Amino acid sequence: MLREVLGSIFKKPATNLYPAQKLEMPDKFRGKLKFYPEKCIGCKMCMRDCPTNAITINKIAENKFEAVFDLSRCIYCAQCVDSCPKKALEPTKDVELAQLDKNKLRVVFSYKEKSR
Ligand code: SF4
Ligand code: SF4
Repeated sequence: MLREVLGSIFKKPATNLYPAQKLEMPDKFRGKLKFYPEKCIGCKMCMRDCPTNAITINKIAENKFEAVFDLSRCIYCAQCVDSCPKKALEPTKDVELAQLDKNKLRVVFSYKEKSR
């Protein structure tokens, strides 16, 4: 047993020293969403298919939309990314989303409709 204990002292740790040591997420990791408002046509397919109602797209004026992403509701399934016909949404490798203020997880974009 002493041999096991001494051996483990000099072994490389099995865990990462997060957050001192940053984690590299694998390709195709589904983290925080990135939105490209200039590509959006306001079709609301992402809003319709989101299983947690984390997306709201509203027409606020002629040719003008507002998109609200509530990241506190998002489960990072990327269904919205698959549903978007214009590739206006993209998952990133960003996982550091912890907040004390829930309102900071509400991301709002106002933008003009792209001509179809
Ligand atoms: S990743 Fe999933 S839960 Fe999050 S906004 Fe998109 S569809 Fe909704
Ligand atoms: S983000 Fe994509 S799916 Fe959502 S409203 Fe815009 S174009 Fe449609």
